[in-house]
Amino acid sequence: MRVIVCESADESADIVAGQIVEATRKKPNLVLGLATGSTPIGVYQRLIAAHQSDGLDFSGLRTFNLDEYLGLPADHAQSYSTFMNEHLFHGLNVARENIHFPPTIFPSHDPETIRSVCDAHEAEIRDAGGIDIQILGIGSNGHIGFNEPTSSLASRTRIKTLTKKTLEDNSRFYGPDEEQPTMAATLGIGTILDTKSILLQAFGAKKAEAVKASIEGPISSFWPASALQLHPDVTFYLDEESASALSMLDYYRRVRKNEGKLRG
Ligand code: PGA
Repeated sequence: MRVIVCESADESADIVAGQIVEATRKKPNLVLGLATGSTPIGVYQRLIAAHQSDGLDFSGLRTFNLDEYLGLPADHAQSYSTFMNEHLFHGLNVARENIHFPPTIFPSHDPETIRSVCDAHEAEIRDAGGIDIQILGIGSNGHIGFNEPTSSLASRTRIKTLTKKTLEDNSRFYGPDEEQPTMAATLGIGTILDTKSILLQAFGAKKAEAVKASIEGPISSFWPASALQLHPDVTFYLDEESASALSMLDYYRRVRKNEGKLRG
């Protein structure tokens, strides 16, 4: 696990976007796992700039989003599909057929049908060769995707009911007359652990408790991001505020300095 305490959210976005740009140059048909929320927006702005100003070609890119609300049509103002169109896809030349979201429409709602549609989505990820780089944010309750506290650490793509905390955190996006969805489809924690490389960003004091529990706490389904301790290639990119509760802060800074020295 690597912990990088950045000077600012901008520095974090520079580093994370830089890694995706480099990976896309090396592998034009990169498989990228995408997240929604305020955290990854800076990365998405930089990817758009890499395409529009530097001419980087994203036509081979394949994307899998982490989650999507149940009960909202894809073109609804609050759907994650709309969020991704507005914040990333509109500015890149990514092919529409290469964009994937977890399934939210099922021929029937019996558990076997939902399971088989979700399993087919897992198979699509596998058929793409697996997710090369997974971008993550973290909820103030430690969720990754919509894997809420007490999610199985081995879970796969499925439907989850959102916690009160998550609904409160996201209520800012809804007007007084708008109904907020309470369920979502999400890649599982097991699905996320299968990705090859994970770049998690967290900004602001509101995330400090979840960041500490995930990096320095015991592995527990109560803090879903703590499962990332089992992943061989995960980096947390933090700002000063979200890192503020870490007890080994000084150590993480020294590691970064030493790694810089090794790179020369
Ligand atoms: P945020 O959400 O980026 O809007 O803070 C992160 C999350 O809930 O995973």
